[in-house]
Amino acid sequence: MKPHQLQIQNTLSRKKEIFQPIELGYVGMYVCGPTVYSDVHMGNCRTFISFDIIYRYLIHLGYQVRYVRNITDVGHLESDADEGDDKIARKARLERLEPMEIVQRYTTGFHEVMAMFNAMPPSIEPTATGHIIEQIEMTEQIMKNGLAYESNGSIYFDVEKYIGNNNYGVLSGRSLEEQLNNTRDLDGQGEKKGRLDFALWKKAKPEHIMRWNSPWGEGFPGWHIECSAMSRKYLGDRFDIHGGGMDLIPTHHTNEIAQNVGCCNTAPVNYWIHTNMLTVNGQKMSKSLGNSFLPVELFTGLQLDPKSPGAAPSLAVLGDKHPMLDKGYSPMTVRFFMLQTHYSSTLDFSNEALQASEKGFRRLMEALKTLSNAPVSDKTTYDIPQLQSRLYAAMDDDFNTPVLIAELFDVVRYINSVNDGKEFISAEYKSSLIKLLNAFVHDVLGLKDDIMEDQSGTTYGLMQLIIRMRADARARKDFGTSDLIRDELAKLNIVLKDGKQGTSWEIKS
Ligand code: AMP
Ligand code: ZN
Repeated sequence: MKPHQLQIQNTLSRKKEIFQPIELGYVGMYVCGPTVYSDVHMGNCRTFISFDIIYRYLIHLGYQVRYVRNITDVGHLESDADEGDDKIARKARLERLEPMEIVQRYTTGFHEVMAMFNAMPPSIEPTATGHIIEQIEMTEQIMKNGLAYESNGSIYFDVEKYIGNNNYGVLSGRSLEEQLNNTRDLDGQGEKKGRLDFALWKKAKPEHIMRWNSPWGEGFPGWHIECSAMSRKYLGDRFDIHGGGMDLIPTHHTNEIAQNVGCCNTAPVNYWIHTNMLTVNGQKMSKSLGNSFLPVELFTGLQLDPKSPGAAPSLAVLGDKHPMLDKGYSPMTVRFFMLQTHYSSTLDFSNEALQASEKGFRRLMEALKTLSNAPVSDKTTYDIPQLQSRLYAAMDDDFNTPVLIAELFDVVRYINSVNDGKEFISAEYKSSLIKLLNAFVHDVLGLKDDIMEDQSGTTYGLMQLIIRMRADARARKDFGTSDLIRDELAKLNIVLKDGKQGTSWEIKS
């Protein structure tokens, strides 16, 4: 391992700290994954891509990383205050499907989108429903320690009692008063002793479909306990890094810490990392605000048809031009766009910014090609060892990808000058520069040249056109043409699937 002074902005201390893992050479990292009741939007993607960079850089530095990112498939209620429906159960009811059909559909879509963004899969991807026993056991331990109580078949964490010996606002920096002011009085509050108390286990009402047996009768786990139980199971009572979007700080992560301390008497995490929000016209991108973009819309520049069976790129049925997009942008362009802003700053989404990123990304990719064909000389007119230090310094400074990209553009200028015969590079330095850029551009930033790949927006646009033409042919009862289209596509390994909600397509590998 190279000696490095990696610094991480720790939400817990509100300072940049030198990263020191618990065990030399190993890192345990937990990131809160998606709630799979609907398609991931670009805001969610920003958070997961930010952690992909962190994961990649830690691996690049030589750490053996165990990266755990969960799938929330039960327990996330519509309101963070333990009220309302379970998001997945509600969607299942609306669509007349099994909850696990909803979970499978959106988990598959999430994986597909992450693969298109070239985000590495985590080492372990545990599900909340797969860890009910662990959540019950942890709840029992917290009760044994006197920090949770039963009320009408539900179990609540006793925040008031916890506050007696611990700082409940340690992560958010909020005073008790502020926390109370941010908690709404809601129905069902009567079951709780204190307003800040939160559910570890909820009794299932008769109509609730997702339910399990427990020492307290049939019910389901609260949202926060899953991450405490699963991080502890795979990473231990205390581990190195925990991450998520910063919207999770005041409730979900605050409660996770309380649960772990309440169970195991130790703060669970050394470094808390929080990513900032993707915004649209300054507003947080979110499903509930109706301003969210789906990845497939961005890749194609088209709007998802409301009748589409899903937004996973392979299923998506697309409609008209998206009002906020001039055209589609490739997944790598979008990834590059996101990396041009530090993960801790807000990032505002616009067609203009994407257009600029597309140009920048192409320039970088072209320079890499130019370098491999560039003429060599007996001298080198650029300080390549110093460039290497600058690239590491950028990433060591809390994974500063925008500074790293600015350094890369400095070398792009040099590469183009070498090609023009105005600057020079020796054969030896050329091969070390190629290696260095491959490491930072491909391995650390996870960028690859996708212009020739099937993921580009053009393919989606073309497929939509072909599917529409085939539907028209069928409507005219011209089955000869519609069969010809299907058979010719099959020869190209593109399979069309006709369903109740229209035709979807898939590239068979
Ligand atoms: P959820 O599926 O709602 O549990 O969210 C999954 C992850 O996406 C969490 O870490 C959230 O903090 C994060 N997230 C949600 N909205 C945004 C956004 N607009 N920008 C960045 N991250 C987000
Ligand atoms: Zn979580």
